[in-house]
Amino acid sequence: MLSRNKVEERDTYIYNLKPDLRGLSSAEAAKRIKIYGANEIEEKKKKSAIFIFLNQFNDFMIWVLMGAAVISALMGEGADALTITAIIILNGIMGFIQEYRTEKSMEALKELAAPTVKAIRDGYVVVIPAREIVPDDIIVLESGDRVPADSILIEAMSLQADESLLTGESVPVDKRPIQPSVKRSVAAGAVNTLYMGTIITGGRGKAQVVSTGMATEMGKIADMLQSVEEKQTPLQERLEKLGKIMVYACLLACIVVTVTGILKGEEIYIMFLTGVSLAVAAIPEGLPAIVTVSLTMGVQRMLKRNALIRKLPAVETLGCTNVICSDKTGTLTENKMTVKEIYCDERVIEVSGTGYDTLGDFTMNGRRLHVEASEVLSLLMEAAVSCSNSSISSPKKSSKLIPLKRTAKEEVSVIGDPTEVALLILGHKAGKLKNDIDIKYQRVGEIPFDSDRKRMSVVVKCKNGYYVFLKGALDNTIDRLSSIHTSSGIKRISPLIKKSILSSNDKMAQKALRVLCVAYKKLEQLPSKMDVEMIEKDLVFLGLAGMIDPPREEVKEAVNICKIAGIKPVMITGDHKETAIAIANDLKLMDKSSKVLTGKELDEISDGTLNKIAMDVSVYARVTPKHKLRIVKAYKENDCIVAMTGDGVNDAPAIKEADIGVSMGKTGTDVTKEASAMVLLDDNFATIVAAVEEGRIIYDNIRKFIRYLLSCNLGEVLTMFLASLIGYSTPLLPIQILWVNLVTDGLPAIALGVDPPDNDIMLRHPRGKDESIFSHGLADKIIIRGVLICLCTITVFLVNLKLSGSLEKARTMAFATLVMSQLIHVFECRSERHTIFEINFFKNIYLIFAVITSICMLCIAIYIPSLQSVFKTVSLDLGDWIEILFFSGAISLVINLTYYIKPAKK
Ligand code: ATP
Repeated sequence: MLSRNKVEERDTYIYNLKPDLRGLSSAEAAKRIKIYGANEIEEKKKKSAIFIFLNQFNDFMIWVLMGAAVISALMGEGADALTITAIIILNGIMGFIQEYRTEKSMEALKELAAPTVKAIRDGYVVVIPAREIVPDDIIVLESGDRVPADSILIEAMSLQADESLLTGESVPVDKRPIQPSVKRSVAAGAVNTLYMGTIITGGRGKAQVVSTGMATEMGKIADMLQSVEEKQTPLQERLEKLGKIMVYACLLACIVVTVTGILKGEEIYIMFLTGVSLAVAAIPEGLPAIVTVSLTMGVQRMLKRNALIRKLPAVETLGCTNVICSDKTGTLTENKMTVKEIYCDERVIEVSGTGYDTLGDFTMNGRRLHVEASEVLSLLMEAAVSCSNSSISSPKKSSKLIPLKRTAKEEVSVIGDPTEVALLILGHKAGKLKNDIDIKYQRVGEIPFDSDRKRMSVVVKCKNGYYVFLKGALDNTIDRLSSIHTSSGIKRISPLIKKSILSSNDKMAQKALRVLCVAYKKLEQLPSKMDVEMIEKDLVFLGLAGMIDPPREEVKEAVNICKIAGIKPVMITGDHKETAIAIANDLKLMDKSSKVLTGKELDEISDGTLNKIAMDVSVYARVTPKHKLRIVKAYKENDCIVAMTGDGVNDAPAIKEADIGVSMGKTGTDVTKEASAMVLLDDNFATIVAAVEEGRIIYDNIRKFIRYLLSCNLGEVLTMFLASLIGYSTPLLPIQILWVNLVTDGLPAIALGVDPPDNDIMLRHPRGKDESIFSHGLADKIIIRGVLICLCTITVFLVNLKLSGSLEKARTMAFATLVMSQLIHVFECRSERHTIFEINFFKNIYLIFAVITSICMLCIAIYIPSLQSVFKTVSLDLGDWIEILFFSGAISLVINLTYYIKPAKK
């Protein structure tokens, strides 16, 4: 349960049908969920653990190995058959552990991303998972929400729903409650019915749930919706293609080795097994699995840093991001607003107090003011408070009312839009409590706020009749003002007065204040419908309220990191140009050459012009969601990889268009969350930068183990290939090759996948979108290292064969050299920019553990007498190990020393 809010029993408007707004009790809801089940569309069966395990053996190379085991058994080579079987099972177990963990963490992620809904339970508004909704629950819906279950509307304010998911009709339909007698019929397309999965595109309302889960209209078409396949990331796709090419290349090399061996007179059975083992060892069949593990582990790390990834490909794209377009309010700033200044009665009044503390005074030129003494100021506060849908309550649960006279600083708990909360706190400072104001002015109608109109108004009923109260951005309201209320009465707004209001607005904005204009008008009678043009015209100006929303401290650092990391931070805000500039300067987001564009200016320029200047623009102010789409497109036209944030329902198209659509976990709507690739659980810009860093780390790590796996596999194939070409006996036996593969390919590669980053990861510029995974000399490194591993192993083999005359000894030495040179190489793979001497050896503890385990497995095959006969090995002495370490370590030493002559850093 995220929040609780006492429901206002009076909070019913024109369409009130006297429903029970206290909702279900928790006990009743618990009972019902047992009867009706969770509000979920039944998913197709999840993969069971057994299925995942058995699936490990559903692989072409494993079948080949199984065939080899059967042939070995038929040939009477029981030990070989058993060892191959053991290797198949060990491989299966390791694959299973990887895949099972990945599946589980992906499931956990899906659970986290599960939608929530505002419902009324026990008389309080609670935020609960949508799956816990039961029939007869009362749900609260607003623009951007996805309807959680089939429901009947009981209250609505300009409510519209997009039902295209069910009807294919993309134009939103108006929804309103009708007679209670027909309340329980869910006729398709009914005006009072909301269907599970459809989207509220405007207005707000309350509805009563009539059916949940598979009983809903959506449940009936669920099968159709579940056919969506989970997509691979571009890198996974590319690696799969590469894997296929490598399979053919390796198979060719294996056939050459096998045929040459047979032609040289080696036993057919041995050469067949050698070919099979080599193919198994050479083909990096574990690569896709390790990429997936690395991506999912990265996703977990991102989650710890408050970034919830919804689409796996985003992890890769994050690393290439070079433009981050961010909303201002709540993402760059704290979204905790406090009114600091009021312009009213042609005077500027200062308001003291910080944050959501209700303590504060009103002063003018240093003199304390009593709000009640000024009729205009008093009405301004009442209008502002009445025009808010948010609520504040005392932090002490026991007392519902906040005492008016307090001396100690105490922040209240709040629910709703911070802009409105700031107005409620302002009212509280003046003794204008929301509860009292709502009794004095009973709300009978509302034209909701939206980011295009940038204002909202209510129709209220009081002793003297009906009034309209309006609050909103001055620029969008000024033309609707006809007069001004001052202490000397109501007078028409002359050009001079208009100039003075606009200039006061600008002055406040330059101080980084968000400014809201408050106005009203008296109505002769209750309007028959909430007609915007009729209601929001000829208004009387009451004043301006300027509120501060401080920039988030951590964002300053994040903006700085962006600049160093070659990422352009861009502010996109619905706020006033001057407010935006003041905040941008505070965050050092702009430099001398940075441009600022307003929504109006954007409307005046063509897409072509925007494309040309976009790279110089750092702030877009007074924009509407539709501008965001143009802005994303402009950066994409400049070949940028764009991350774009959004929260409102109308932001969804821009979020979808962006390379990385980012939504807000706290304030975002369901629609933007669903359209986004990443959700910021803390709504914080700094989290995007942290996610970009993680994206870079993951990509680096994928390069690291690709480098490792491919150079090692190349080393193994070349060793066997070269030996067969120069006419010697095979340096390694089939079982030894399989063991090398098991010992070196598994744990060390996975440990590289979770390697801590280089310290300078955010000092580099982003990589190019279409950059090959083998770019920046990675292919050369792989080939050179593969060749060197082969040369060392063959040298050790030949030297020992010559000196000892024992093929078994020479093979054991080659076997150990091949493993040891790979285990030393794995440390080199930890950085492409730093030598083995510069990286902190102990930073990746998993790698140390993996290498020790691999060495133990090597020693088991060499020293355990019963296994010596299986692996055809002999015990090695200290001198042998010095030789092995010399050959495996020497190359590493030479390569790393050459970096000093030609530095490795790019
Ligand atoms: P950003 O895009 O930086 O997050 P924002 O989303 O808060 O900014 P909008 O919500 O579109 O921007 O607000 C734009 C303007 O609308 C504000 O500058 C303010 O004048 C006005 N405004 C904001 N909230 C309300 C509200 N609840 N009622 C009336 N007017 C509002």
